[in-house]
Amino acid sequence: MKKKLALACTDCGSRNYTKDVSDKVRTERLEIKKYCRYCKKHTLHRETK
Ligand SMILES: [Zn+2]
Repeated sequence: MKKKLALACTDCGSRNYTKDVSDKVRTERLEIKKYCRYCKKHTLHRETK
């Protein structure tokens, strides 16, 4: 079973990415550094529901 998570920029709140995660490998809150095209820089992205 796979689940789609949205990753939102912690600076502006835009949901820029989605990630497939399996329910079994349920980690803690994901925090990934990714490029935000709205901030025009790399920011920390956090999972949302
Ligand atoms: Zn941003």
